[in-house]
Amino acid sequence: PTSRTLMVHVVPFSEDMRLLLSEDITQGQRLEAMRRDFVANVSHEMRTPLTVVMGFLETLIDGLDDLEKDDVHHYLGLAFEQAGRMQRLIQDLLTLSALESGAPVAHEEPVDIVALLEEVYQEASVVSAGRHTLDLECPPKAHLLGNAKELYSVFANLAINAVRYTPAGGHIRISWRQRGAVVDYSVEDDGIGIAPEHIPRLTERFYRVDRGRSRETGGTGLGLAIVKHVLSRHQGDLLIDSEPGRGSRFTASFPARRLVD
Ligand code: ADP
Repeated sequence: PTSRTLMVHVVPFSEDMRLLLSEDITQGQRLEAMRRDFVANVSHEMRTPLTVVMGFLETLIDGLDDLEKDDVHHYLGLAFEQAGRMQRLIQDLLTLSALESGAPVAHEEPVDIVALLEEVYQEASVVSAGRHTLDLECPPKAHLLGNAKELYSVFANLAINAVRYTPAGGHIRISWRQRGAVVDYSVEDDGIGIAPEHIPRLTERFYRVDRGRSRETGGTGLGLAIVKHVLSRHQGDLLIDSEPGRGSRFTASFPARRLVD
């Protein structure tokens, strides 16, 4: 073991006496506990949509002779949506596990940022379905050394989160700006915002401020964990500024030396 943590157990001994037992937890044991937590989380996340799919299928099987065609459509549509949820979860888990394998960024190349941001803007507009005002601000030309697919996942995750966590009528601004030695991709929204105590934990796998809301909007709880990994592979940083009820700004900054132009 390379590092040790002292774990202290407080054991009630008598009325006014407590026994302190200490135990050395090796790094190996800690990793094992994290792995167990992760497996429990994944199982829980998978079980929820699966239970819903099975419920709808059961309704269909039991009522096949009596259900109206419209009802059948309705239940199949709902089951399809939940199956899509499971598919997204598996996709995100595979992405995360590939990123966590620690392999260096594959296929680094000058990535056309303007084209990528336009794609992200389109995707965010589809998710918003006209409920928000979206702005895109970027220079006429910008190329960054990196992996296009990975960078797209960072840009899209942050933009789509802004749409998901901003009520209808809100504004979202996506921008790309150089600021001295760094270049910033930033997404600002005037949505629900995040209380300060949650901010440091947002990039943990499956950490959500409001589980119900994230589920409602179809989130997997893995988006920001993926963002963090991709950024660290590109020597980038994630900065989160937010105020409950006012909105949030997520900024991914990259070293400007990665700019190719
Ligand atoms: P999810 O799939 O739940 O959106 P993420 O990892 O992308 O998972 O985000 C983690 C949590 O961070 C979300 O559940 C949400 O609580 C919070 N969050 C992310 N982006 C925003 C935002 N723009 N405004 C408010 N909360 C946000």
